[in-house]
Parts: sequence; C-alpha cells; structure tokens
Amino acid sequence: MLLADFRPSSKLVTETTPVNRPRFPVIDAHNHLGEPFGGGWDQKPLPELLDRLDEAGVTQYVDLDGGWGEDILNAHLDLFKAKAPSRFHIFGGVDWLQWAAKGDGFPESAAGRLKIQKERGAQGLKVWKGFGLHVRDQDEVLVKVDDPRLVPLWETAGELNLPVMIHVADPVAFFDPIDETNERWEELGEHPDWAFTSPPFPAFMSIMEAFANLVARHPNTTFIGAHVGCYAENLGWVGRMLERCPNFYVDISARIGELGRQPYTARRFFLRYADRILFGSDMGPDLEAYRISYRFLETEDEYFNYNPGEVPKQGRWQVYGLYLPDEVLKKVYSENARRILCIEP
Ligand SMILES: [Zn+2]
Repeated sequence: MLLADFRPSSKLVTETTPVNRPRFPVIDAHNHLGEPFGGGWDQKPLPELLDRLDEAGVTQYVDLDGGWGEDILNAHLDLFKAKAPSRFHIFGGVDWLQWAAKGDGFPESAAGRLKIQKERGAQGLKVWKGFGLHVRDQDEVLVKVDDPRLVPLWETAGELNLPVMIHVADPVAFFDPIDETNERWEELGEHPDWAFTSPPFPAFMSIMEAFANLVARHPNTTFIGAHVGCYAENLGWVGRMLERCPNFYVDISARIGELGRQPYTARRFFLRYADRILFGSDMGPDLEAYRISYRFLETEDEYFNYNPGEVPKQGRWQVYGLYLPDEVLKKVYSENARRILCIEP
C-alpha cells in the first residue's frame, strides 16, 4: 500500500455535536463571490445565494473580489450590493501590473484609484499574497511589503477609513523544500504553484518582518491580517503584533486546521484577543464549511476533520473544538467586523 492511499478511520468514541446554525448571527469578513475562490456566484442567481447565506446564519458577507478597474468592481456592486445592500460589502484591489507603465507615479495613482473605488461604493481594500512574492516595480525589482514608496496608498486608505484586508506570505511550509519533512507535501503536490521555496523566493520571516513594519508605520490605517495574521502557525508572534499595533486585526479564514491542532494555545488566543478577531470562511458560501467552523468555535468536540471530505486538505491532522464563551463568540462572529467595517446594526 502506498502511504498516499492510507485512510485510517478513527475508532475514538467521543461526542459529536453538529452545529447547523451559529449560536449568534455571523458576518463573514473574508470571502469571495467570483472565480476561482468564490464559486462563480457572479454567474448564478442571487436569490439562491441569499437562501444559502440564510441557511448558514450569515447575515453579511464581505466579497473581496472587487478588483481594480471599473469593470469588476461595478459588476460586483451591481450584482450584489445594489440588490441586497445590507447583505454584501465589496472590497476593491490594486493592479500591481500597472507599476511597469506608470513608474514613479504608480503609488499616487493607486491612491487616487482607491478614492474612486470608495466613491463607487467599495468598503475596503484587498491586497493579495502576490505582494511580497511577485509584485515588481518598473525596474523589475521585487517590491518589499514595507516599501516606503507605497506610503501614499496606505495613508490614503486610512484617510478614507477603508480597512485593508491583507494577505502576505502563505503557510510556512510552502517556503520550505518540498521533501519528506514538508507537512504540506500532499497539498504542494496538487498545487505546485503554491510552493515559494526560498531561495529564490524571499524567506518567510523576512516577509513577516516587513509586514509588521508596515502595520506599525501606519497607525491610522486599519489592517486586517488575513488567515490569522498570515502566521497561524505561531500565535505568539501574531499576539505580539496585536499588542504592538492597535490598528491590527486578524481573520480566521481557511485556518481552522492550524488553529484546531493547537487548541490550548488557540483558545487562550481567542480569549485574550477577543476584540481583534474576525470570523471568515474563504470557502465561498459553502454550507458544510461554515458548519465545520461553527462546530470548531462552539463545541468541545475532539479530533474531527477541519475540511469537508475524507482527507484533510491542509495537512493530515485533525482538530479540537474551542468551546468559546458566548461573549467571545458574539465579538468574533459579528461585533468586531461591524465596528471595523462600519456596518450598521
Ligand atoms: Zn481569500
């Protein structure tokens, strides 16, 4: 038998507590509606989407797929925001490829673009993980996450009161050699383009240190560090950044696998930073994925898969529920997002 075919089925007899609906209403602060991450809901009927969100107990949904140009942002504003304004919040983006053509004028032009996006109805700025890994300036030089040339962009986001949802780097193991010690080996086999082995890519910690500099340098701009501050493997590090930077928040999207394999540390993290953590899924409006997240946050169930399907996709381990108290759940499920995104009750 090949190790890849191994499917051990657990013989543990412990509590299984299905949670079909969250204990309190949920704002999903990190998700998508376009392809590939959002399931292509820009091509499907809106009532079906709303039914799904209702069934999942999700009252508001942040769609990070607004993009940079008028086309996509306007399309998403028309398709979702205009038709169900209280349910959707659309974030815009930055088109880094324009740096080549605009040269030294790029940062100011990106800041100007952000103003136009806000006027049109964008409620935040999404920065994708290519920033720090692939984004290059007009001289083809890799741009560091704390590059001072971009100060106008981050300051403008603060002045416009637009939160910046930022994802830099990726799981730590994606930066390691792909060998028998890599804990994400199967996933990297399926998605070879997710490997950022350094060199040639920058070292994981060099990206994270630049990220911490960036957030500390702009105290008037709100940053939401996607996927548990982009470093779910090290909650001590994320906690220190939260303590150092009052303008820093994190979402928990796509990291139930990381949080749930360190349940003692994760529970302490939630209790301590309850005001700074936002619920997010990042799996599109997927009912089963939502229910796994609710079960993880609300119950004390032990040793369950953090993904829909048979084999966990982000490493072969199982997770343990955090049984968070009601006052923490309320903050994480909606109160923090409501405050940061200026969502009316
Ligand atoms: Zn995402």
